[in-house]
Amino acid sequence: MQAAAPAAVPRAAAPAAPADSDAAALQVLHEVFGYPAFRGAQQAIVGQVAAGGDALVLMPTGGGKSLCYQVPAILRHRAGRGATVVVSPLIALMHDQVGALAELGVAAAFLNSTLDGDEARRVERDLLAGRLVLLYAAPERVLTPRFLAMLDSLDERGKLALFAIDEAHCVSQWGHDFRAEYLGLSALHERYPEVPRIALTATADAHTRADIVQRLALEGARLFVSSFDRPNIRYTIVEKTDPKAQLLRFLRDEHEGDAGIVYCQSRRKVDETAAWLAAQDIPALPYHAGLEAGTRRRHQDRFLREEGLVMVATIAFGMGIDKPDVRFVAHLDLPKNIEGYYQETGRAGRDGLPADAWMAYGLADVVNQRRMIDDSEADETFKRLQRGKLDALLALAEAHDCRRVRLLAYFGEPSEPCGNCDNCLQPPATWDATEAARKALSCIYRFRQHGGSGFGAGQLVDVLRGKTTDKVRQHGHERLSTFGIGADVSEAQWRGVLRQLIALGHVYAEGEWNTLALADSARAVLRGEVTLELRVPSDARRAAGSARRTGKAGKADKPPPLPLDDAATARFAALKTWRAEAARAHNLPAYVVCHDATLAELARARPATLDALAGISGVGSKKLDAYGEAILQVLAG
Ligand code: ADP
Ligand code: ZN
Repeated sequence: MQAAAPAAVPRAAAPAAPADSDAAALQVLHEVFGYPAFRGAQQAIVGQVAAGGDALVLMPTGGGKSLCYQVPAILRHRAGRGATVVVSPLIALMHDQVGALAELGVAAAFLNSTLDGDEARRVERDLLAGRLVLLYAAPERVLTPRFLAMLDSLDERGKLALFAIDEAHCVSQWGHDFRAEYLGLSALHERYPEVPRIALTATADAHTRADIVQRLALEGARLFVSSFDRPNIRYTIVEKTDPKAQLLRFLRDEHEGDAGIVYCQSRRKVDETAAWLAAQDIPALPYHAGLEAGTRRRHQDRFLREEGLVMVATIAFGMGIDKPDVRFVAHLDLPKNIEGYYQETGRAGRDGLPADAWMAYGLADVVNQRRMIDDSEADETFKRLQRGKLDALLALAEAHDCRRVRLLAYFGEPSEPCGNCDNCLQPPATWDATEAARKALSCIYRFRQHGGSGFGAGQLVDVLRGKTTDKVRQHGHERLSTFGIGADVSEAQWRGVLRQLIALGHVYAEGEWNTLALADSARAVLRGEVTLELRVPSDARRAAGSARRTGKAGKADKPPPLPLDDAATARFAALKTWRAEAARAHNLPAYVVCHDATLAELARARPATLDALAGISGVGSKKLDAYGEAILQVLAG
């Protein structure tokens, strides 16, 4: 963690946190949350905010942002300072968090459109009477006269403990989730200058960060930037050959029975893919903005509550989904940029157990994304920016070195090869494609010279490989000097060459038929001034993506999700059965009762007394009261 030194700071400067307040924070962590230690920057952040300072927290998804305001909220409430107001744009997240806090015995509530009048009034009464530790509300609600009048009343009595602004990047037009209501939140600071604020986001880029500071008037806040690494996520990117079959193999070989998300670009593809998976006996549901709101809610709810469901979705799904045991995120289409990719893949493995980020991408993805930018209505500056972002993503996809090093470098974080991405685990073979690239370019050039109009990728590969198809004969292409000059290079390799040439901007596709044309920069390649080193396509290696794990080494080189011996594995299964019953009985998602990670630790350590049980990470005092005896019985059985 790099915490910037507090600059010349006004009021909100960190009062140096004395040791006993650290101890109080730790006690809350143990007693309420049942965790043995703070993670990374959490302790420093809690210290800063609990003592009344402002903070801006940049932490990756799954890093543990919620505790950064929940612990201070509890500490400040205990100190008689009243309630913390959490501003969040996501109704699903509010419900989840309030439910989880209730399980921990923390008085929390939300105010949003899902409550009827009576329920809302009860929450308001609880808030005004000082009974709530945390109140969650959407930004548009917070800024209503009625809500502000309540805050006034609390503030006058010194009972406004803290403002927590979640998903703070929504204030930036630069970011991908801009929400106009967020702009109004600076009013909170103007109206209640003495109330400390903590703003949190998982978006790392400098521009967004600057926007947050400026628009929320957080110049005096202490900045906490955590490492963006998610070491438990394994990154794999494969060339798309037969996407459905590749996906099915990935699901069957590596994630049988696991919950996960499959992202597709279009609604139609979401529907198709979900139906197809279901027909293959994989429990899958679709989710996109074209579905009726009730259906969407039902599918999301099932995904949260049931175990082992696969959600096939557009990027409309996922923000605020706080399910810790998502074991994989698969992309069947290229995301828009690295920010999107990282946010989407970040939804895997929030519980810290091994998880997969898997993506299949191909020539059509590259062509489509470029076209979408070119054809959009945006101005040139914006287009240039988008092209730059796409280039970075394509470079990641084509990379033959460590994916994680590239991802983290994109967010400004230096790192070493990770040992947990496809390229580290099985360094890809590369080949010198310089000569092949020149052949492809000159063939595209000949097409134009010969027939006037251009041709697409299929014709190019056929001509280079010397295939006399009807279409080749029809256009007389067998007489071109480039006919058959690349018979020694496989079709997959040619597609790789072309993909790379398009990714690098030397070639572009135009018109209804995606006909190929040369960009000015192609000249340098034709003259041999640019060398091209490409990965050998995976089908040429006879190892498509996951084959490395199912092939020679079987599942053995996949890190076991839970390193347990046989007896412990049996206990783990028994605990899961118990948890499913408890979840049903309390009408809660299973992970709210207990995380997989906690169950695994219970199965391994096998505590025999309530005292020993209290020492397990994830077992707080409320859980101990509610479930302690039952868990001991399962473990003894
Ligand atoms: P974020 O909001 O940053 O995505 P969360 O607040 O949802 O992350 O936390 C991610 C997961 O990590 C949650 O399941 C949470 O319970 C767990 N967690 C957070 N802090 C700790 C800690 N200090 N010790 C153990 N688990 C933690
Ligand atoms: Zn790596």
